[in-house]
Amino acid sequence: MASVFCFGSVLFRGVRTFHGNSFFLLKSVNNQIRGFSSIVNKSNKPEYDLVVIGGGSGGLSAAKEAANLGAKVAVLDYVTPSPRGSRWGLGGTCVNVGCIPKKLMHQAALLGEAVNDSRSYGWQLPSSENISHSWEALKDAVQGHVKSVNWVTRVDLRDKKVEYINGLGVFKDANTVHTTTKQGEKLLTAKYFLIAVGGRPRYPNIPGALEYGISSDDIFSLPHAPGKTLVVGAGYIGLECAGFLNGLGYDATVMIRSIVLRGFDQQMANIVKAEMQDKGVKFLMQCVPTAIEKLADGKLKASWQNAQNETFSDTFDTVLFAVGRRALTAELQLDKAGVKVAGDGEKIDAVNEQSNVPHIYAVGDVLYKKPELTPVAIVAGRLLARRLFGNSTLTMDYQNVATTVFSPLEYGCVGLSEEAAIAKYGEDNIEVYHGYYKPTEFFIPQKNVSNCYQKVVALREGAQKVLGMHFIGPYAGEVIQGFAAAIKLDLTIEALMNTVGIHPTIAEEFTRISITKRSGVDPTPASCCN
Ligand code: FAD
Ligand code: NDP
Repeated sequence: MASVFCFGSVLFRGVRTFHGNSFFLLKSVNNQIRGFSSIVNKSNKPEYDLVVIGGGSGGLSAAKEAANLGAKVAVLDYVTPSPRGSRWGLGGTCVNVGCIPKKLMHQAALLGEAVNDSRSYGWQLPSSENISHSWEALKDAVQGHVKSVNWVTRVDLRDKKVEYINGLGVFKDANTVHTTTKQGEKLLTAKYFLIAVGGRPRYPNIPGALEYGISSDDIFSLPHAPGKTLVVGAGYIGLECAGFLNGLGYDATVMIRSIVLRGFDQQMANIVKAEMQDKGVKFLMQCVPTAIEKLADGKLKASWQNAQNETFSDTFDTVLFAVGRRALTAELQLDKAGVKVAGDGEKIDAVNEQSNVPHIYAVGDVLYKKPELTPVAIVAGRLLARRLFGNSTLTMDYQNVATTVFSPLEYGCVGLSEEAAIAKYGEDNIEVYHGYYKPTEFFIPQKNVSNCYQKVVALREGAQKVLGMHFIGPYAGEVIQGFAAAIKLDLTIEALMNTVGIHPTIAEEFTRISITKRSGVDPTPASCCN
């Protein structure tokens, strides 16, 4: 096994990198690939069994599993600072600038709501004006947690004898990856390579976007309170960020180019939006940004136009772009290894995670037409390592992956949307069960229940195989997770209806589902327990 060496989390080096519409001011990768030498393995045998490029969810999972199975493994991880200079440590997007800080800020917002609810449960609290929230305290707590995870991740790699190299990996040829570390240039040869480089936020190509806008790479470590914020984009990230910012007391506006949550069931997506509106989030529909300017007082003037080409503007403290993510393949010089990218010019189209170059694999967000979710990257990486080093033949199943949008009232789902089911099977062959419900916890504080809604999409014939389940309400991720396992085991409506619920919970609502859309019966319940 190779000995372990860990360098600083982020190493500044001279690399000029194309990033979305921007050029990071760093010098040419090509310039680095000269003068290396010393560390090249002179024998014909590759130095490593597996070299992983990217130490995020997928890369770390594959590296650790491969090492457990006795492989000699190195992981390269390097974070190019964001255009606003944000940078972070080992662990990838989820840990540093994704799932984890996002969930913590979502939780902070939910707690603010709970503080208010608690009055009606008898808690004697100061008046609302005397309760305040500190962004700085939240940011410090979140960053403290993130840094502890960075540290634990490094220790874990060392314990598992995975070599961690804090350097940007660039293919020199199909059998060699080049990197630069604080110690100098290094060439790594391996039997197998795994590309797990993930992605980074895109920016719209408009004046001022890069100079004055921020992205999800920056929001969780923003040193000052974001204030009045314009969020551009209505995917997962846009809605989640606008949701927690509003919950923390900041004025939040979402700018939507077309629809909310493209790819999701649109009835559910619009309920998510309605709930956010009820809670105070503003929406600008069918609008695109045209420019961001900095005013003399430091505020940002955002300009935009609507579908009729009418122009508008307003001032904000923060403009956050959440307009999708770019896979980090351009920096890898894949052409030198002969690895092809898919039609979109960025992502790798791999069958069972194997690229067109047989010993080069890819997992995670860099894969073409696969869900960009942490557990997807983790499971695919683990299963791949078992196939490469553990005699396994089990491949990753990308179907029926459950997911949750952590909007103020969460939306969890698994399987097909109503639209996708109709497109695949035809409307006559689909039965949609649905219903509103009243969470017991909402009664005493008299919270809005009008957006607590669930839907089960099933085949119409026989035992009615369930194709998709959709749930909007508190803890939607917790509710939907177990049903995802049931769907993998071919859950039917009959089995769902014969399942005895746990009372009083919100997850039991799925076991009480009985009204079909086709029947036209009112899906609004009279009480909590009918
Ligand atoms: P990453 O985790 O992005 O890791 C790639 C690593 O490789 C990075 O550290 C990168 O810097 C490094 N790297 C890139 N190029 C090179 C190179 N050439 N050399 C060396 N290192 C390199 N998913 C969920 O399941 N649930 C959520 O709640 C959720 N919330 C999210 C919230 C936000 C704001 C964002 C942005 C994402 C969220 N995601 C969530 C998605 C999730 O973070 C990603 O799907 C997941 O991190 C992808 O893992 P990965 O291994 O493909 O890449
Ligand atoms: P998405 O692709 O989901 O959404 C991008 C949004 O930006 C869309 O609303 C899109 O509109 C809009 N948009 C794109 N370009 C422009 C533009 N030039 N001007 C204005 N609007 C624009 O990306 P996200 O960044 O939100 O998320 C990326 C991925 O990260 C997700 O797919 C998800 O897999 C993962 N993620 C998972 C989370 C979770 O599990 N809870 C949370 C956050 C992220 P249009 O529809 O018109 O194209």
